Amino acid sequence: MSNLKAQLGLPGRLDVARLREDFPILSQTVHGRPLVYLDNGASAQKPEAVIEAERRCYREYYANIHRGVHYLSQTSTTEYEAARGKVQRFLNAASDKEIVFTRGTTESINLVAHSYVRPRLRAGDEILVSAMEHHSNIVPWQLLCEETGAVLKVIPISEAGEIDLDAFAELLGERTRLLSVVHVSNALGTVNPVAEMIRQAHAKGIPVLLDGAQAVPHMPVDVQALGADFYAFSAHKLYGPTGVGVLYGKYDLLKAMRPYQGGGDMIKTVSFEKTIYADPPNRFEAGTPNIAGVIALGAAVDYLSEVGLEAIAAYEQELLDYATERLSAIPGLRIIGTAPNKAGVISFVMDGAHPHDIGTLLDEQGVAVRAGHHCAEPVMRRYAVPATARASFGLYNTREEVDVLVAAIEKVRELFGA
Ligand code: PLP
Repeated sequence: MSNLKAQLGLPGRLDVARLREDFPILSQTVHGRPLVYLDNGASAQKPEAVIEAERRCYREYYANIHRGVHYLSQTSTTEYEAARGKVQRFLNAASDKEIVFTRGTTESINLVAHSYVRPRLRAGDEILVSAMEHHSNIVPWQLLCEETGAVLKVIPISEAGEIDLDAFAELLGERTRLLSVVHVSNALGTVNPVAEMIRQAHAKGIPVLLDGAQAVPHMPVDVQALGADFYAFSAHKLYGPTGVGVLYGKYDLLKAMRPYQGGGDMIKTVSFEKTIYADPPNRFEAGTPNIAGVIALGAAVDYLSEVGLEAIAAYEQELLDYATERLSAIPGLRIIGTAPNKAGVISFVMDGAHPHDIGTLLDEQGVAVRAGHHCAEPVMRRYAVPATARASFGLYNTREEVDVLVAAIEKVRELFGA
C-alpha cells in the first residue's frame, strides 16, 4: 500500500500499534500504570533498529575511523560515512560534504557562531533572532555580542505565538549579519514560515540559520527547497542516540569558514610552520567523533524514512488536533501557543496548580510530561508565566494516551480544588 500511496503522492497511514512494538521502553509500567510518554520534545525514545545499530557497531566492527588500514577501521569508516549520506538524503542536501556531525543542535549553532559569524562581525553589526528561541539560539549570540560590540535584535511574537512578520521585515537591516530562527518552537509548537523569512532575508543578502531541533522529527525537511544556509538538529529528538547532531551548511559557506576546533582528523598536513586544514566536512570534525552514535543516527534516519515523514506529520496533526480540543475543554486550563500552524507540542498552565505540581501528579499516574521553562525563559516572560507543563507528541503516541492525559489532568484539578 505504501508504494501505491507514494505513487499517488499521499501519505500512508501509520500502524501505530505495530510501530509501538519497535520501542522496547514503551511497554513498561511506571508507578503501577502503563507508561504514557509525552516528553518527546525533550528527547524521543529509541526504536530497536537504533539500539541494535549501536550494539552491532560495538559488537561486530568497532574501531576508530578514517586512519586505519585494517578491516575493522575500514568497516567503521564505511558505516560512519554511509550515515552522512543518509542524513544528506534525509535533508535533501546537495552533497554529503554539506553534512557536519556535531554533538547536537547546541554545538551546531555554536559552530556557526564561532566559525562563520565571529570573523565577520564588527561592533554595531546585528544578529537577528525571534522571541521564541531556545536558549541555545540566544546565548551563543550574546557571547559574540559581548566580545565584539555587536547587537542581538529580537523579532516579537504575537499572543498566539506567531512571528510578527511586519516587525521582522523592518528588523532585517543593513547591519544584519545573520538571521537565526527556530523552525518549530519547543515551547509553543509554532511552525514558523521559514521559507518566506529566508526569501526576505536573502533578498537583502542576509544568510539564515534554522534551528531544526523540533522540526525534523515531525515533518519532511528539504534544505534546498527552504533555501536555508545552515540547518541544525539533534539526533536524540529524532529517535536517535544522545550526543550526536548535525550541522547542514551550504558547501561554499562551509568552505570559506575557519575551523571550530583544532585537532586530529581536521587537517590535510600539519607542521610547526603551517597547518593546512581539511576540506569540509572533516574540517569541522576535530578528534574522534561519536562513531557508534553517528551510525545509530543513520539507523534512525532509515527508520523514519521507512515509516515516512509525511505519514508521521499527518498522523501527529490529527493527534495534536484531538489533544488540543480535549485540553481546551478543561476549565481553568490555558494553552500557551495557539498558532494555527503547530507541530506536536501543547504547553499549558492551570489555575491554582504550579506546572511542577502538575508534572509530579501526572507522573504518579504514569504520564511523563515536562514542567519548567523549556530552556526558553524569554517565552515564559512573554506570556507572564513562571513555567508551563508541556505534552509533546511522537509518532508512537495515541488518542487513548491523550485520554489518559486528560483524565490525569482532571485528577490534578480535583486535588487542587480548581
Ligand atoms: N533548539 C530547540 C528548539 C530545542 O528544542 C532544543 C532542545 O530542547 C535545542 C535547540 C537544543 O538541543 P540539544 O540540547 O540537543 O543541543
